[in-house]
Amino acid sequence: MNDILSNIDFTFQRIENACLANNRDPKEVRLLLATKTVTPEKISIALKAGHTLIGENKVQEIKEKYEALKNIPHETHFIGHLQSNKIKDILKFGVSCIQSVDRIGLAEKLHQRLSFEKRKIDVLIQVNTSDEASKFGVHPDKAAALVERIAAFDTIQIKGLMTIGLFSAETAQVRQCFQLLKKISDEIKNRHIPGVEMKELSMGMSGDLETAIEEGATIVRIGTAIFGKRAYPDSYYWNEGK
Ligand SMILES: *Cc1c(COP(=O)(O)O)cnc(C)c1O
Repeated sequence: MNDILSNIDFTFQRIENACLANNRDPKEVRLLLATKTVTPEKISIALKAGHTLIGENKVQEIKEKYEALKNIPHETHFIGHLQSNKIKDILKFGVSCIQSVDRIGLAEKLHQRLSFEKRKIDVLIQVNTSDEASKFGVHPDKAAALVERIAAFDTIQIKGLMTIGLFSAETAQVRQCFQLLKKISDEIKNRHIPGVEMKELSMGMSGDLETAIEEGATIVRIGTAIFGKRAYPDSYYWNEGK
């Protein structure tokens, strides 16, 4: 249990150091705990200590953990691949932001459901910056056009962009992914699309958070460095159905 909290402390130190090295205010960067496969018991240790932003990849997992966590204040973002037939479910379990909207069909169905429920939701647009066929996300060249189309849905509030960087030990290549996301974000900002904010850049994970912060991340999503290694390979979460 102390492991989790000391890992969080250590992660905050990494965030802070990266911010200070780049003349950024550490308050500009939020730590999102990537809690896929982590038990509610472990998650609640972090939540009770005040680390209240979590990200889940599967609707089924959110569902399973919901009862155990619902009385501990926290905020849940969805960071996995979302299938249209799971929209109804995801809205039932208090997700405040879907970071992985990457196609118009999904946005249309989301809008239909939100209209029916008379509510709104925050989203980030997931961009496939690494050009790997195995990863979800809109192609970088198509991101701005997708944002414009989704912006027409008044139930969906676009707050920024998300990416999973190239899974590589080559910092230079990972950095290119983050730079590309920032560049797309700036281009979209310049279009001044009504209702669209480009204030969030969700990028950086356990292995590359420093690089992401250097390139402008406002949310880093950290799993392994806090909760330890997972039993499943990430491909199980990232390439589902591909
Ligand atoms: C699992 C996951 C993370 C966290 O990755 P770690 O390397 O364990 O820090 C971040 N983002 C997404 C989308 C994930 O699925």
